[in-house]
Amino acid sequence: MSAEDGSAFDIYRQRVERPLFRLFTEYGPGRLKWLTVGMVANVFARGASLLPPLVLGVAIDSVLSGDSPYSLPLVPSGWLPTTDLEQFWFSVWLIVGSFIVTAVFTWVYGVAANNFAHRVMHAVRTDSFETMQRLDMTFFDDKQTGEVLSVLNNDANNLENFLDNALQNSVRLGVMIVGIAIILFSLNWQLAMVTLVAVPALFGLTVWFMRAVEPRYVARRASVGNLNTRLENALSGVELVKTSGTESYETGRVEDASWRYFRDTMAVLRLNYVYRPGMELLAGISFAITFIIGGLWIFRGQGPLFLTGTLSSGEFVTFLFMTQRFVTPLAQVSNIVDQYENAKASCERVFGLMDIPSQITEAEDPVELEDVEGHVEYDHVDFGYAGVADGEPEELVIEEVRFEAEPGETVAFVGPTGAGKSTLLKLLIRLYDPVDGEVRLDGHDIRELSLESLRNHIGYVSQTTFLFDGTVAENIRYGRFGADREEVIDAAKSAEAHEFITALPDGYDTRIGERGVKLSGGQQQRLSIARTMLQDPEVLVLDEATSAVDTETEMLIQRSLDTLSADRTTFVIAHRLSTVREADEILVLEDGQIVERGDHESLLEEDGLYAKLWGVQAGEIDDLPEAFVQRARERAAERTDRLDAQADSLSPNDD
Ligand code: ADP
Repeated sequence: MSAEDGSAFDIYRQRVERPLFRLFTEYGPGRLKWLTVGMVANVFARGASLLPPLVLGVAIDSVLSGDSPYSLPLVPSGWLPTTDLEQFWFSVWLIVGSFIVTAVFTWVYGVAANNFAHRVMHAVRTDSFETMQRLDMTFFDDKQTGEVLSVLNNDANNLENFLDNALQNSVRLGVMIVGIAIILFSLNWQLAMVTLVAVPALFGLTVWFMRAVEPRYVARRASVGNLNTRLENALSGVELVKTSGTESYETGRVEDASWRYFRDTMAVLRLNYVYRPGMELLAGISFAITFIIGGLWIFRGQGPLFLTGTLSSGEFVTFLFMTQRFVTPLAQVSNIVDQYENAKASCERVFGLMDIPSQITEAEDPVELEDVEGHVEYDHVDFGYAGVADGEPEELVIEEVRFEAEPGETVAFVGPTGAGKSTLLKLLIRLYDPVDGEVRLDGHDIRELSLESLRNHIGYVSQTTFLFDGTVAENIRYGRFGADREEVIDAAKSAEAHEFITALPDGYDTRIGERGVKLSGGQQQRLSIARTMLQDPEVLVLDEATSAVDTETEMLIQRSLDTLSADRTTFVIAHRLSTVREADEILVLEDGQIVERGDHESLLEEDGLYAKLWGVQAGEIDDLPEAFVQRARERAAERTDRLDAQADSLSPNDD
């Protein structure tokens, strides 16, 4: 998704300031002890790892060649052994000891650093999921789930990597550089200058690398996003791909995306090919210079060039070892920078998601409805879908709609596609709020009710049923988790689902969904009716399926819907003649307005839009008035435009 499209997500993402700082201030407190322990242990582990070369140098000078007294920095000489043999074993134990200390602290550091990183990420993941759930439908309308998933998944992983590795690697780098410099300077500052003369060059190379690699990292991140979107699209649209025989076209697109990713990765790697060997080479040069100068110094007994004083063989050995220690942590710099940049971008996206405000919020002191009669009233309701840029509706899709349903009544909505039937009913469960006017349930403006109590009293059976991965019983119980087995079976019976469920391999305990048995469309629908049956809402919203099922299934579904809607206030987007005919009131919608209302007979008599729609369905009218067809075409074109706009927003990442 490009940043220019101005969706709420991008707008809030761009507004996030100092994301990583915010991560620490919001999620650090309470977990900082892990971080502190990790950092301290890291410092000790690295410090201890510098001890062996130092002790080795001292041992060579005093024990093996016996030139100088046995002394260690920071240790009082009274504590040290006096005989050569004791000093030898003391050195051995010191070296072994520091290996053990390094190992123990590395362990402590690993445990603490991992705990910090993963505890923070657990909290971030849970929080961002929770925020994502409370976001308005408007957000999901123009947002691909793939992108939200990638925030919850990839971005969270990037942050984890940063907190886990990059943070500790930079501590390690700091300790190594400072520690080695201190040791070398305290041993022999002149030779230290010679050894460290390569350090500015190492830094110079690193800075060059970071500058050069940065735009390439950005390009690579974009192309990996692009590739993921492509893969995700092709997978979720696999049915379309197969039915249109466009496999090779999709392969081509994935190949392009993959090639772009390859190309951008290689651009990063090409720099790495120069950087890493360059670092090794500079370190090698530093080693060679130290070896030549130090060697000549010992060899001749006096410093070459302008160097003065003495250099012992032990010091020389320590120098050579230390020079080797420099490179590995320095070469990590590029990884640290990469992980830091990734984490910053990811953190921005995570907080961008969390910062999106929801429009559908509860009143300060929401009313909890206990007993609901089911009296519903739409009072001069206007509604338009929010424009992506400023949240203001571009045009009204519902205008001046007003009607009332008494408890237990059935109101049917009919009208051409795009007239606003689904939208109108979505307002009742507050998937969206009206721009103007009020929707009332039992006399309360639904915005005064707690969302939970509103939605608990309204059942929604949509055309597209969704079943979770789980057993049949779990799916029926979804939303009323406390229901016992008997209630589940009763609900299934009233939904005409009991028969087919008992025929499944494990009956009510059969796993369905992604990893289980597949159910037919009609069966899925009856399960979702059973779920609503169990919920036992006072108000029911039905979006009748248009897709054809066989007559027998249709009859079963119809029967179960009749049972479901009996004694409940029911709103139905009606496609079936039987439903329409039996409704207490029929509202005919066109372009968001109610153009006709009444019962079946009176509407037929009126001979308006309803009579025409009815006539087409019943096969009585072959020729529709030209004006009507024209309007239908225009509406279809508008719809196509909207879908095109959505499809555009589904196109690859460019940022
Ligand atoms: P119906 O249910 O009668 O077919 P809808 O309520 O689905 O009609 O659509 C009413 C109008 O609102 C149409 O013009 C449609 O294109 C538009 N619309 C529907 N859903 C959205 C959405 N999520 N975002 C923007 N416009 C939408």
